Amino acid sequence: MHQPELSSLYQELILEHYRRPRNKGDLPGVTAEAHVHNPVCGDEIHLRIRVEDGRITAARFTGNGCAISQASISMMTTLLEGCALQEAGDIAARFVEMMHGDEEAGADQALGDLRALRGVSRFPVRIKCALLGFDALRSALDSSARENAGPGGEGSSP
Ligand code: ZN
Repeated sequence: MHQPELSSLYQELILEHYRRPRNKGDLPGVTAEAHVHNPVCGDEIHLRIRVEDGRITAARFTGNGCAISQASISMMTTLLEGCALQEAGDIAARFVEMMHGDEEAGADQALGDLRALRGVSRFPVRIKCALLGFDALRSALDSSARENAGPGGEGSSP
């Protein structure tokens, strides 16, 4: 069952994202954003996304904290770019399942590099760190949905 080589490979991937985070920085034309923090560990994340025609066309973050929180948000943003909002929601739900120890979710290709974090599910204190980026995603999308909610719903297509 246990594959030590695989888990050290995962650890490398986590550290690699932590040291060289993807999509870190400001985002022009941001349409939704959220700031979240995890007081238990001291992690902070500010997520900025741009949503166009129901699709996430860009995702950037700033923040600091432990390797797990920062690697998780880095991995998450790489997956989100190009995703329809529905897909982004599916990825988030799948990741939460993986964090609850679901092995099938932990092997799901849809999670990309995030699968490297599956081992975190064994450490309840760190699960919050891993989920922080997805908390930010949910609040960002919730707030933009509220702003865009109005009579008519979907705009007319070009
Ligand atoms: Zn943390």
